[in-house]
Amino acid sequence: MPELPEVETIVCGLRRGIVGKAIARAEIRLSKMAQAAPNVSFERAVAGEKVAGVRRRGKYAVIELGSGRALVTSFRMTGRLVVSSAADCEERGTHVVLWFTDGSRLSFADIRTFGRMRLIEPRQPWDRDLGIEPLSSGFTPEAFIGMLSGRRTPIKALLLDQRRIAGIGNIYACEALWEARIRPSRPAGALTKPAVRRLHDAVVGVLNRAISLRGSSVDDYVDADGLPGEYQDVLSVYGRGGRPCKRCGRPIVRTVLAQRGTWWCRACQR
Ligand SMILES: [Zn+2]
Repeated sequence: MPELPEVETIVCGLRRGIVGKAIARAEIRLSKMAQAAPNVSFERAVAGEKVAGVRRRGKYAVIELGSGRALVTSFRMTGRLVVSSAADCEERGTHVVLWFTDGSRLSFADIRTFGRMRLIEPRQPWDRDLGIEPLSSGFTPEAFIGMLSGRRTPIKALLLDQRRIAGIGNIYACEALWEARIRPSRPAGALTKPAVRRLHDAVVGVLNRAISLRGSSVDDYVDADGLPGEYQDVLSVYGRGGRPCKRCGRPIVRTVLAQRGTWWCRACQR
Protein backbone atom coordinates (compact mmCIF):
# COMPACT_ATOMS: atom_id res chain seq x y z
CA MET A 1 0.00 0.00 0.00
CA PRO A 2 1.56 3.31 -1.03
CA GLU A 3 2.46 5.44 1.98
CA LEU A 4 3.82 8.98 2.06
CA PRO A 5 7.18 8.29 0.30
CA GLU A 6 5.53 6.26 -2.46
CA VAL A 7 2.79 8.83 -3.07
CA GLU A 8 5.37 11.64 -3.00
CA THR A 9 7.32 9.75 -5.69
CA ILE A 10 4.19 9.22 -7.77
CA VAL A 11 3.34 12.92 -7.43
CA CYS A 12 6.84 13.97 -8.59
CA GLY A 13 6.44 11.80 -11.67
CA LEU A 14 2.98 13.20 -12.37
CA ARG A 15 4.36 16.76 -12.15
CA ARG A 16 6.86 15.93 -14.88
CA GLY A 17 4.34 13.93 -16.87
CA ILE A 18 1.01 15.76 -16.91
CA VAL A 19 1.20 19.36 -15.61
CA GLY A 20 0.12 21.76 -18.36
CA LYS A 21 -1.68 19.06 -20.34
CA ALA A 22 -5.33 19.42 -21.31
CA ILE A 23 -7.75 16.54 -20.71
CA ALA A 24 -9.56 15.54 -23.89
CA ARG A 25 -11.84 13.01 -22.20
CA ALA A 26 -12.19 10.60 -19.32
CA GLU A 27 -12.88 6.94 -19.95
CA ILE A 28 -14.49 5.21 -16.98
CA ARG A 29 -14.80 1.44 -17.19
CA LEU A 30 -15.66 0.76 -13.56
CA SER A 31 -17.92 3.49 -12.24
CA LYS A 32 -17.13 3.08 -8.52
CA MET A 33 -13.48 3.94 -9.24
CA ALA A 34 -14.26 7.50 -10.43
CA GLN A 35 -16.56 9.48 -8.16
CA ALA A 36 -18.01 12.98 -8.29
CA ALA A 37 -20.43 15.08 -6.25
CA PRO A 38 -24.15 14.31 -6.74
CA ASN A 39 -25.47 15.87 -9.97
CA VAL A 40 -21.94 16.22 -11.37
CA SER A 41 -20.88 14.08 -14.30
CA PHE A 42 -17.23 13.10 -13.84
CA GLU A 43 -16.68 12.73 -17.58
CA ARG A 44 -18.35 15.99 -18.54
CA ALA A 45 -16.66 17.95 -15.74
CA VAL A 46 -13.09 16.94 -16.51
CA ALA A 47 -13.24 17.14 -20.31
CA GLY A 48 -11.44 20.33 -21.37
CA GLU A 49 -9.80 20.85 -17.97
CA LYS A 50 -6.11 21.67 -17.81
CA VAL A 51 -3.79 20.11 -15.21
CA ALA A 52 -2.59 23.07 -13.14
CA GLY A 53 -0.50 21.20 -10.57
CA VAL A 54 -0.04 17.99 -8.62
CA ARG A 55 0.56 17.68 -4.90
CA ARG A 56 0.39 15.13 -2.11
CA ARG A 57 -1.71 15.19 1.05
CA GLY A 58 -1.17 12.25 3.40
CA LYS A 59 -1.41 9.15 1.22
CA TYR A 60 -3.49 10.95 -1.44
CA ALA A 61 -2.32 12.33 -4.79
CA VAL A 62 -4.11 15.59 -5.62
CA ILE A 63 -4.30 16.65 -9.28
CA GLU A 64 -5.30 20.32 -9.34
CA LEU A 65 -7.35 21.39 -12.35
CA GLY A 66 -7.54 24.82 -13.96
CA SER A 67 -11.12 25.44 -12.79
CA GLY A 68 -10.21 24.96 -9.12
CA ARG A 69 -11.55 21.44 -9.07
CA ALA A 70 -9.22 18.62 -8.07
CA LEU A 71 -8.88 14.90 -8.66
CA VAL A 72 -8.02 13.22 -5.38
CA THR A 73 -6.72 9.66 -5.72
CA SER A 74 -6.48 7.09 -2.95
CA PHE A 75 -4.40 4.04 -3.82
CA ARG A 76 -5.42 1.70 -1.00
CA MET A 77 -3.82 -1.72 -1.53
CA THR A 78 -2.99 -2.00 -5.20
CA GLY A 79 -3.87 1.30 -6.93
CA ARG A 80 -1.50 2.72 -9.54
CA LEU A 81 -1.39 5.99 -11.47
CA VAL A 82 0.78 5.61 -14.53
CA VAL A 83 1.48 8.11 -17.31
CA SER A 84 2.03 6.63 -20.73
CA SER A 85 2.13 7.58 -24.37
CA ALA A 86 -0.46 6.41 -26.88
CA ALA A 87 2.00 3.77 -28.13
CA ASP A 88 2.64 2.15 -24.71
CA CYS A 89 0.73 -0.99 -23.69
CA GLU A 90 -2.01 -0.46 -21.20
CA GLU A 91 -1.37 -1.01 -17.50
CA ARG A 92 -3.05 -4.24 -16.31
CA GLY A 93 -6.27 -3.62 -14.37
CA THR A 94 -6.91 -0.13 -15.75
CA HIS A 95 -10.36 1.14 -14.75
CA VAL A 96 -10.12 4.87 -15.44
CA VAL A 97 -8.18 6.62 -18.20
CA LEU A 98 -7.68 10.35 -18.61
CA TRP A 99 -6.81 10.98 -22.25
CA PHE A 100 -4.87 14.17 -22.93
CA THR A 101 -5.12 16.25 -26.08
CA ASP A 102 -1.53 15.29 -27.06
CA GLY A 103 -2.50 11.58 -27.22
CA SER A 104 -0.81 10.60 -23.94
CA ARG A 105 -2.83 9.27 -21.02
CA LEU A 106 -3.01 8.81 -17.29
CA SER A 107 -4.20 5.34 -16.31
CA PHE A 108 -5.69 4.59 -12.92
CA ALA A 109 -5.25 0.85 -12.49
CA ASP A 110 -6.18 -1.23 -9.47
CA ILE A 111 -6.36 -5.02 -9.46
CA ARG A 112 -8.31 -5.13 -6.19
CA THR A 113 -10.46 -2.07 -7.02
CA PHE A 114 -10.32 -0.49 -3.54
CA GLY A 115 -8.69 2.70 -4.82
CA ARG A 116 -10.74 5.74 -5.79
CA MET A 117 -10.35 8.85 -7.93
CA ARG A 118 -12.66 11.53 -6.56
CA LEU A 119 -13.54 14.76 -8.34
CA ILE A 120 -13.59 17.51 -5.71
CA GLU A 121 -15.40 20.78 -6.35
CA PRO A 122 -13.62 24.11 -5.74
CA ARG A 123 -13.43 24.82 -1.99
CA GLN A 124 -15.06 21.46 -1.18
CA PRO A 125 -13.40 20.34 2.05
CA TRP A 126 -12.17 16.78 1.72
CA ASP A 127 -9.16 16.52 4.04
CA ARG A 128 -10.60 17.82 7.30
CA ASP A 129 -10.05 14.46 8.97
CA LEU A 130 -6.38 14.27 8.02
CA GLY A 131 -3.76 15.19 10.59
CA ILE A 132 -0.49 17.06 10.32
CA GLU A 133 1.99 16.42 7.52
CA PRO A 134 5.06 14.84 9.16
CA LEU A 135 7.44 16.61 6.76
CA SER A 136 5.86 20.03 7.31
CA SER A 137 7.48 22.71 9.46
CA GLY A 138 4.61 22.41 11.94
CA PHE A 139 5.58 18.86 12.87
CA THR A 140 8.13 19.80 15.54
CA PRO A 141 9.36 17.60 18.41
CA GLU A 142 7.32 19.81 20.75
CA ALA A 143 4.16 19.36 18.68
CA PHE A 144 4.75 15.60 18.71
CA ILE A 145 5.27 15.57 22.49
CA GLY A 146 1.95 17.43 22.87
CA MET A 147 0.18 15.00 20.54
CA LEU A 148 1.32 11.95 22.53
CA SER A 149 0.84 13.40 25.99
CA GLY A 150 -1.68 11.49 28.12
CA ARG A 151 -2.55 9.00 25.39
CA ARG A 152 -2.79 5.30 26.24
CA THR A 153 -2.91 4.15 22.61
CA PRO A 154 0.05 1.96 21.63
CA ILE A 155 2.56 4.25 19.95
CA LYS A 156 2.44 2.26 16.74
CA ALA A 157 -1.36 2.58 16.48
CA LEU A 158 -1.02 6.32 17.01
CA LEU A 159 1.57 6.60 14.23
CA LEU A 160 -0.89 4.84 11.89
CA ASP A 161 -3.82 7.10 12.86
CA GLN A 162 -4.27 9.34 9.81
CA ARG A 163 -6.34 11.81 11.86
CA ARG A 164 -3.21 12.65 13.87
CA ILE A 165 -0.34 12.33 11.41
CA ALA A 166 -1.10 11.93 7.70
CA GLY A 167 0.86 9.58 5.47
CA ILE A 168 2.53 7.01 7.73
CA GLY A 169 1.51 3.40 7.13
CA ASN A 170 2.69 0.04 8.39
CA ILE A 171 6.09 -0.01 6.70
CA TYR A 172 7.36 3.33 7.97
CA ALA A 173 5.75 3.00 11.42
CA CYS A 174 7.70 -0.26 11.94
CA GLU A 175 10.89 1.23 10.55
CA ALA A 176 10.74 4.45 12.59
CA LEU A 177 10.02 2.59 15.85
CA TRP A 178 12.99 0.29 15.25
CA GLU A 179 15.25 3.22 14.48
CA ALA A 180 14.12 5.01 17.67
CA ARG A 181 14.51 1.75 19.69
CA ILE A 182 10.91 1.93 20.92
CA ARG A 183 8.67 -1.11 21.49
CA PRO A 184 5.60 -0.73 19.21
CA SER A 185 3.10 -1.56 21.99
CA ARG A 186 4.33 1.11 24.42
CA PRO A 187 1.50 3.49 25.42
CA ALA A 188 2.16 6.73 23.54
CA GLY A 189 1.83 8.90 26.63
CA ALA A 190 4.34 6.80 28.57
CA LEU A 191 7.27 7.67 26.31
CA THR A 192 9.89 9.94 27.83
CA LYS A 193 10.57 13.25 26.10
CA PRO A 194 13.97 12.05 24.84
CA ALA A 195 12.26 8.97 23.38
CA VAL A 196 9.63 11.10 21.64
CA ARG A 197 12.41 13.28 20.20
CA ARG A 198 14.22 10.17 18.94
CA LEU A 199 10.99 8.95 17.36
CA HIS A 200 10.33 12.34 15.77
CA ASP A 201 13.80 12.31 14.19
CA ALA A 202 13.32 8.68 13.11
CA VAL A 203 9.94 9.38 11.46
CA VAL A 204 11.28 12.38 9.53
CA GLY A 205 14.54 10.61 8.67
CA VAL A 206 12.94 7.36 7.48
CA LEU A 207 10.38 9.20 5.31
CA ASN A 208 13.02 11.43 3.72
CA ARG A 209 15.39 8.53 3.01
CA ALA A 210 12.55 6.50 1.53
CA ILE A 211 11.61 9.42 -0.74
CA SER A 212 15.23 9.67 -1.89
CA LEU A 213 15.06 5.97 -2.93
CA ARG A 214 11.65 6.48 -4.56
CA GLY A 215 9.71 4.45 -2.01
CA SER A 216 9.40 0.75 -1.16
CA SER A 217 8.03 -1.81 -3.60
CA VAL A 218 7.08 -4.55 -1.15
CA ASP A 219 3.73 -5.19 -2.81
CA ASP A 220 2.47 -3.77 -6.07
CA TYR A 221 3.73 -0.23 -5.84
CA VAL A 222 5.21 1.41 -8.92
CA ASP A 223 5.78 5.12 -9.61
CA ALA A 224 4.10 7.24 -12.29
CA ASP A 225 6.50 5.83 -14.90
CA GLY A 226 5.66 2.24 -13.91
CA LEU A 227 9.02 1.72 -12.14
CA PRO A 228 9.51 0.12 -8.69
CA GLY A 229 11.16 1.90 -5.75
CA GLU A 230 14.39 0.85 -4.04
CA TYR A 231 13.80 1.34 -0.32
CA GLN A 232 12.60 -2.27 0.10
CA ASP A 233 16.28 -3.27 -0.20
CA VAL A 234 17.30 -1.29 2.90
CA LEU A 235 14.35 -1.98 5.23
CA SER A 236 15.51 -2.71 8.78
CA VAL A 237 12.56 -4.67 10.20
CA TYR A 238 9.47 -4.60 7.98
CA GLY A 239 8.88 -8.07 6.51
CA ARG A 240 12.12 -9.39 8.05
CA GLY A 241 10.64 -11.82 10.60
CA GLY A 242 13.21 -14.40 11.80
CA ARG A 243 16.13 -12.56 10.23
CA PRO A 244 18.82 -10.93 12.38
CA CYS A 245 18.33 -7.42 13.71
CA LYS A 246 20.70 -5.09 11.87
CA ARG A 247 21.64 -3.50 15.22
CA CYS A 248 21.99 -6.39 17.69
CA GLY A 249 21.81 -9.58 15.61
CA ARG A 250 18.85 -11.14 17.48
CA PRO A 251 15.96 -12.38 15.35
CA ILE A 252 13.28 -9.89 14.34
CA VAL A 253 9.85 -10.99 15.56
CA ARG A 254 6.46 -10.50 13.94
CA THR A 255 3.53 -9.84 16.24
CA VAL A 256 0.07 -8.43 15.56
CA LEU A 257 -0.85 -4.99 16.91
CA ALA A 258 -4.07 -3.18 16.03
CA GLN A 259 -4.74 -5.97 13.48
CA ARG A 260 -1.54 -5.21 11.59
CA GLY A 261 1.59 -7.33 11.25
CA THR A 262 4.28 -5.65 13.32
CA TRP A 263 7.99 -6.39 12.97
CA TRP A 264 10.37 -5.41 15.74
CA CYS A 265 13.34 -6.48 17.84
CA ARG A 266 12.58 -7.70 21.36
CA ALA A 267 16.18 -7.08 22.40
CA CYS A 268 16.72 -3.48 21.38
CA GLN A 269 13.24 -1.93 21.25
CA ARG A 270 12.00 -1.08 24.73
ZN1 LIG B 1 17.94 -5.56 17.86
